[in-house]
Amino acid sequence: MRNIKLLLRQHVGAPCAAIVKAGDKVEKGTLIATPTGLGANIFSSVYGVVEEVTEDAIIIKPDAEQPDKYIPIKKSENKLDMVKEAGIVGMGGAGFPTGVKLGANLEGGYILVNAAECEPGLKHNIKQLEEQAEKTVRGVEYCMEMSNASKGIFAIKKKNAKAISAVKAAIKDKPNISIHLLPDIYPMGEERAVVRECLDILLDPTQLPSAAKANVLNAETILRVAEAIEDQKPCIYKNISVLGRLNGGTETRCFMDMPVGISVEDLIEMAGGIDGEYGEIIMGGPFTGKACKIDDPTTKTTGGVIVTIPFPDLKGAKVGLLLCGCGGNEERMRDICAKMNGQVVSVTQCKQAMAAKPGGPLKCENPGNCPGQIAKVMEMKRAGAEYLIIGNCSDCSNTVTTCGTLKMGLKLFHQTDHVMRTIGHPLYRKLTVSKSVDQDLSEF
Ligand code: SF4
Repeated sequence: MRNIKLLLRQHVGAPCAAIVKAGDKVEKGTLIATPTGLGANIFSSVYGVVEEVTEDAIIIKPDAEQPDKYIPIKKSENKLDMVKEAGIVGMGGAGFPTGVKLGANLEGGYILVNAAECEPGLKHNIKQLEEQAEKTVRGVEYCMEMSNASKGIFAIKKKNAKAISAVKAAIKDKPNISIHLLPDIYPMGEERAVVRECLDILLDPTQLPSAAKANVLNAETILRVAEAIEDQKPCIYKNISVLGRLNGGTETRCFMDMPVGISVEDLIEMAGGIDGEYGEIIMGGPFTGKACKIDDPTTKTTGGVIVTIPFPDLKGAKVGLLLCGCGGNEERMRDICAKMNGQVVSVTQCKQAMAAKPGGPLKCENPGNCPGQIAKVMEMKRAGAEYLIIGNCSDCSNTVTTCGTLKMGLKLFHQTDHVMRTIGHPLYRKLTVSKSVDQDLSEF
């Protein structure tokens, strides 16, 4: 294993302050950085020696031997204190400190388990539910207790039969916990989409789930809550899907309990190494991830590492970019266009994508339900675009395909195309599945 690099900012809020120095010996579970404001404790995820402390990271040289044993966090009668002490943050990518989130009083409301695992190719959440459903269910119960919620609901795509069966068995004597089945479209895992699907409440982009008396927590976050309370385990591990142009095949390898801070290069090596020429390496999912360098470190929020095939060459052709509130931001879309050797002539956004505050990230008013795209496509065509690169959801990609490609003669790429082609997944074009699923669980 190469050096572990633990970033001091790997959560929403202020960066942590290091409390170790170069030369210090550390063990799994040694507290190495503490919050300076909103934040979460950071622990060493390996046995080793601190090599360097920089402004933004603690770098640790790992020992050759890495026993499973870790330094336990303090035991407490107060479960919320244990979650805070363990340094857990939203592990689905959000990174909000879980101890703060669970401190909200939901007044008899809901813990919604986000098991949508909506980013195509990522599979570690589903594998976790297949293998650790009972512990995850106990995590839901702890979260319900801490937040004063009376119901728990697993939101999971209907296609994941094995995981659904495992959860169904684990909740059979728990009338307060249920399963809500989701269709296999993007983006079912967006926080407000989970609230809408499970509770039939459409929140405004400026509202938090607490406005619906709900807390949405990623499935892995909930498991880490159970580990903190039952095993006094600090948040030192992350489950990560690694996929793409790799020796041995493009299918997803799930690496469970990887030390936080392990390098992308180590993960790729564990997965077999890169198979020949590649386009880029993405940290995260195909829609919301970003290109990274091979020596970048993972964090508590890293869900995927994807190696893609090379990009097509547009030879300087004029391109319009259509942004989605649940896809790549403008910087990411421009990055993809530059890698395809395209020339951006127009940038526009889905009319449902809006910034909750000026300059902030785009959010969708009603994720996954197309508001129509003809005006946006015409705008890009008028600007001289020959090609479109779109980041839209399944439903809107369907609309753009129809009006842009079929009716206006524009050539179309989706921001995820190079990933989908790498892993043999259908491209985001015409919608081929239903946007609704029945909730009959008898087949599982
Ligand atoms: S409706 Fe628009 S903003 Fe919302 S998810 Fe679809 S493309 Fe994105």
